[in-house]
Amino acid sequence: MARKIWPWLAGIALIAALGAGAYFYRGEIATRILQRAAAQGMSDSLSAQLPDGLHAVFCGTGSPLPDRTRAGPCLAVVAGERVFVFDAGEGAAETLALMGVNAGDVEAVYLSHLHSDHFDGLAPLALQHWATGTSQTPLQLVGPTGAARIAAGLNEAYAIDSGYRTNHHGPEIMPPTGGGLVAREFEIPQGSATIVLHEADGVRITAFPVIHAPTEAVGFRIEYGGRSIVISGDTSRSDSLALNARGADLLIHEAISPRLNAIMESAAQSSGRTNVGVIFHDILDYHTSPQDAGAVAQEAGVGALALTHLLPQTPIPGLSSTFERDARTTFDGPVWAMRDGDVISLPSAGGINRFHRLRF
Ligand SMILES: [Zn+2]
Ligand SMILES: [Zn+2]
Repeated sequence: MARKIWPWLAGIALIAALGAGAYFYRGEIATRILQRAAAQGMSDSLSAQLPDGLHAVFCGTGSPLPDRTRAGPCLAVVAGERVFVFDAGEGAAETLALMGVNAGDVEAVYLSHLHSDHFDGLAPLALQHWATGTSQTPLQLVGPTGAARIAAGLNEAYAIDSGYRTNHHGPEIMPPTGGGLVAREFEIPQGSATIVLHEADGVRITAFPVIHAPTEAVGFRIEYGGRSIVISGDTSRSDSLALNARGADLLIHEAISPRLNAIMESAAQSSGRTNVGVIFHDILDYHTSPQDAGAVAQEAGVGALALTHLLPQTPIPGLSSTFERDARTTFDGPVWAMRDGDVISLPSAGGINRFHRLRF
């Protein structure tokens, strides 16, 4: 009997010794891992690995409500070799970098509307655009009337820092002309009319009005290589969106869960935070339930529905599946509640692929 126990004891002792060794040398092991990951990360570009086509890169699927797993609203669209960003909420630049998108490659940022949660990540993105791209010109900001005021305000706020960067790294690395933002404003069209914001090298970007009163807001349609993505921006259920999303391969729609939102509202009310309760109540009328997002997708006949800008926050695993379940009651096609780091790929050759890509 004793003879049979010895090999077990020796095995346990060996594992314990290895564990202790790993613990003792954990700093060194982590440093070696970093050495490999850093080399890989520096040369690892997401857009270089994608096939020719149109690709939705989810760099922020959250809202203004606190959620450690979701950055503020941000969607990067890779169209062929071009990279565009639609809204840049808090944490957008960080998440883009963690997904392997070089901010220096971003050609322009399009704002759906001027709620601050859609642009409070702009300044860090502009700084990364300048620093990683050695950009000679500021990051282009395309948005409704008022976007120029935002750009001017951020440029002023960052003027001192920009001077430090150029002085420290030199004008070859941080060209003095490349910091900050330069704005191009557009008038939001009426009804369900569209405005063409970009048309070059086979990429067409149009905007159309959606319903987000008292804020004026637009959604976007991006077309390239025979594929199309439509972005709702922030909106309550919108006929203009359904019309302009017609036949798109992918509809990316915001969503608020009335049921989960009611839980937050009643928790705020019962703990005496009446003001917070009122805010939870008020946000319901200018966002879209998953059922209505599904109905819009069904009406437009889109290929797939991706839900983002999830409200309220979804800190518990499984919560986002309730959004999918609700949207499936009205839409026959595939429905996905998106996470930061997700990519939906629409190759020019056809098909639709989904994968997750976040590194450290
Ligand atoms: Zn909004
Ligand atoms: Zn929003």
